[in-house]
Amino acid sequence: METILGIDLGTTNSEVSVIRDHDIVVIEKEGRRLLPSVVGIDPAGNLLVGHPAKNQAILYPERTVKSIKRKMGEDVHIRLGDKEYTPPEISAMILRTLRAYAEESLGQKVTKAVITVPAFFNDTQREATRLAGELAGLDVVRIINEPTAASLVYNTSSDERETLLVYDLGGGTFDVSVVRVEEGVLEVLASHGDTHLGGDDFDQLLFDYVCDTFKKQHKVDLRDTPVAVSRVLQAVEEAKKRLSTEPFTQIKEEFIAEKDGASLHLDMELSRQQYEEQILPLLEKTLTCLNDALNDAHLHPNDIDKVIMVGGASRTPLVHQLLESRLGNKLHGEIDPDLCVTMGAAVQGGLISGAEIGRVLIDITPHTLGTSVFDDWVGSPYVFSPIIKRNTPIPCSRSNVYGTMHDNQQAVEVAVFQGESNDVRHNVMIGNFRLDGLAKVPRGNQIVCQFDLDINGILHVTATEKSTGLAGNITVENVLTEHKPQADESFKEHLKSFFAEREMDSDEPVIDVETGSETTDSKNFAIQAGLTDGWDKRYEKEVALIYRVADFISKTTGDDRTEIETRTKELINAINRNDSDQAGSIASQLEDLLYYLEDSV
Ligand code: AMP
Repeated sequence: METILGIDLGTTNSEVSVIRDHDIVVIEKEGRRLLPSVVGIDPAGNLLVGHPAKNQAILYPERTVKSIKRKMGEDVHIRLGDKEYTPPEISAMILRTLRAYAEESLGQKVTKAVITVPAFFNDTQREATRLAGELAGLDVVRIINEPTAASLVYNTSSDERETLLVYDLGGGTFDVSVVRVEEGVLEVLASHGDTHLGGDDFDQLLFDYVCDTFKKQHKVDLRDTPVAVSRVLQAVEEAKKRLSTEPFTQIKEEFIAEKDGASLHLDMELSRQQYEEQILPLLEKTLTCLNDALNDAHLHPNDIDKVIMVGGASRTPLVHQLLESRLGNKLHGEIDPDLCVTMGAAVQGGLISGAEIGRVLIDITPHTLGTSVFDDWVGSPYVFSPIIKRNTPIPCSRSNVYGTMHDNQQAVEVAVFQGESNDVRHNVMIGNFRLDGLAKVPRGNQIVCQFDLDINGILHVTATEKSTGLAGNITVENVLTEHKPQADESFKEHLKSFFAEREMDSDEPVIDVETGSETTDSKNFAIQAGLTDGWDKRYEKEVALIYRVADFISKTTGDDRTEIETRTKELINAINRNDSDQAGSIASQLEDLLYYLEDSV
């Protein structure tokens, strides 16, 4: 079988992969799979591509070219040392390097490639990319859109019609695309983005924050020394990545500057919350693009079946949070977001050469794991705080910080839950322990809760009082299998209490949850209930739906029943939280579900 390379020629990083024995293999060089898309000439006149070029960028900006992808298709010449090059010539240097890595790893010559480009690239930009491939000695058998490539990896064998939203937040660019998959054909319905928005901007915000704080402390501006700039930039990027899994991080760089003959050290703590406040306005811009893409495709958030997370910066937890509240709980980032596009290009190459490609198998946790918190805003002690979300590749570690509720609180109870509901009473408690002997301090004493999940499904949970290091822990086994909840009874109780609250002062008949029977038209009754007992009129439709469920639930069994129950519980929780967006989104899913099931019974 002919080998066709799948190449993601990115703005920040580039990657290459191939199909081998039905599997997608991403090519590694010295343990690294990302090649920085940076080209340089060192002072001795040697060509540098990738990491060495990236390393010299701050010291020799005039000898280094970054983000050449932004110039593809433009009629410009770029000076590199004492020579000038066109954008395709610079890109060809990156492609040649990737090709050499692949040939070295495969032990054979390779001449064909599929290369990806952003969906918004015009013909000139696509032609420039093809030319770059040719200059690198490659026959470019296909140029495909990046969101199409990402969708191919998540949807290699499905014949079902699916609508995917690909959210691609890289180092320097952001794209969001709506992709329709039908009978194996993928079509980009709409695409929006910002060619100057990405993780590098987050680094810049942190960089400025660190430099400003340092300047206030020491009256020295780190921006004045190129080496210090380079070190701080690298340090904040690493810190930013750690904040994707930890609530706090330390930025430490020794001997970063000098003042009056004395050395100065950088040593600063940064919290995820501080970081998120800084990047929120940038992430809101991505949501505007997302709305534009949905509008262009004439679709509603509920029409999206899967959200595919692509690009290194899409790992940012705040991105997940914002997308979940906009689109619901259907995010997929289990395939490495840095490698998804190159892998899709390899799949396309495999399809062209006739290779059989199996499903991409990744060890993930199929259920969300988290703890319970008292949420002041919701006013409930049963709020689920997810720590490791379902579909997270394992092994993995994640931590969150929580505050004590009372002054001088001496202990906290840490309960570990498995499940998807926002209300822990509908999830399953799989372990708990008490951390005693906390410092006598005002409320808000920070407790860091860390979950470490290994490949065998063993979960280690540690709770640590941040100020003293006092810690407690527990180990729970078999967390990858589903721990069965007390489903039926709890659902009935849930529905009963939902109706009871609404029917307290009403003469209307009560639905019998056991049998689903009632004497008046449930829709009308629900609407009245919604109107008369002070519940926000906005939820009329949702309340009516819950009555419809009560009517219907006894006719369902198995997975259908579990699915309806789960959605209904989520809907009730959303109404109780007064979260109208979430309630609307869940109601619409529930409505679809009922529609199909009512039809089939
Ligand atoms: P890409 O252009 O897709 O290679 O993405 C590169 C960007 O993703 C850079 O800004 C990285 O700093 C960022 N990135 C990589 N890993 C993470 C992470 N774990 N959390 C947040 N950002 C990350």
